[in-house]
Amino acid sequence: MNYDVHKIRSYFPVLKQEVYGKPLIYFDNAASTQKPVQVLMALERLQNDYYGNIHRAAHYMADKATEEFEAVRDKVQQFINAESREEIIFTKGTTESANLVAASFGEQFLKPGSEIIVSEMEHHSNIVPWQINALRKGAKIVKLPVSESGELQTGLLPELISSKTKLIAVAHVSNVLGTVNPVAQIIETAHKRNVPVFVDGAQAVQHIPVDVQELDADFYAFSAHKMYGTNGVGVLYGKRKWLEQMPPYQGGGEMIAEVSFEKTTFSEIPFKFEAGTPNITGVIAFGAAIDLLQETGVENISAWEQELLTYATSQLKAMEGLRIYGEAPKKSGVISFNIAGIHPFDLGALLDKTGVAVRTGHHCADPLMKHYDIPGTVRASFGMYNTKEEIDRFMQALKKVVQMLA
Ligand code: PMP
Repeated sequence: MNYDVHKIRSYFPVLKQEVYGKPLIYFDNAASTQKPVQVLMALERLQNDYYGNIHRAAHYMADKATEEFEAVRDKVQQFINAESREEIIFTKGTTESANLVAASFGEQFLKPGSEIIVSEMEHHSNIVPWQINALRKGAKIVKLPVSESGELQTGLLPELISSKTKLIAVAHVSNVLGTVNPVAQIIETAHKRNVPVFVDGAQAVQHIPVDVQELDADFYAFSAHKMYGTNGVGVLYGKRKWLEQMPPYQGGGEMIAEVSFEKTTFSEIPFKFEAGTPNITGVIAFGAAIDLLQETGVENISAWEQELLTYATSQLKAMEGLRIYGEAPKKSGVISFNIAGIHPFDLGALLDKTGVAVRTGHHCADPLMKHYDIPGTVRASFGMYNTKEEIDRFMQALKKVVQMLA
């Protein structure tokens, strides 16, 4: 395959790090990715050359910052193929995007007795906001269950959807299982019953090409820091027809048309949902991350990560007592596993001492852990810069650590 991973690695200075005297092997990309020079340079350029608060001032610095900031909205629109730039709202991250929809859509559309269908494999950030707002409105959460292999039991959807259902919340890709959920099919089923769908794309956009119009998603959320951008920046895509009906999420500067003590009128979308000074620097640097994803080609990244996934999975499966959670035929480069008789935390802590960074714990998915009746897993998650050599070193380290713990 013609994928120049060494060129990509050269963009990420941090990958040359040694930890505890060992070369860093960073397999915690599902939690957050490392940042390339392009992003670091964009951050520095903005701070050094043209920093100013956007949208309001009448001076060169603010104008230039505004232009660059708004150009990223166009980039995001194009990246996920939204119909219009006004449907792209900048948030702090996927969590804030979910909270925005839960609070605002919830305020407008939930009534006592309403139901929201939430999948069992969701990250807490796609469960708790719905619960909080369901409680406020006297609505109820209905679970869409997961099978043993880590797939959603979508066949149950026609039964679960009723006249009370107001929304379905589902991840495009699971942060624990790696399952790529059939969201297009879920959306089609939901739309037949006039139910909108909120898709948590936090683990998808950087790994698989996403076209929100083709999916026909009503809402789609993701975080820049998992896409080689910085933390503190996220996106909420929402179909115009929903966003225009939804009340503001937060009040403040930027989101208003006119304010008086008697009455305030609000801006049009997207500004209605962007109260206060946003993460100007982070959004502009996010533009550089999107450029890198597009230059490399998300479809090429996807193919490369599939190679890594297959390579690592076959080696892990050969290990005695090792169970992988999530064996759906359509998976992204996330492998959660446990080894019989060893606590995942011990494995993670010892792997760290060999330079391997993995995640251990419940991965903010307690209901899924309960489903499998486990306290947590070890999770290795790949990014665009990982290599098969790193997987070889990880396997050697893992075998050594298991011997020590056995
Ligand atoms: N959803 C999924 C599937 C995730 O993996 C994460 C991050 N682990 C989130 C939501 C939350 O993202 P953030 O913390 O960037 O808001």
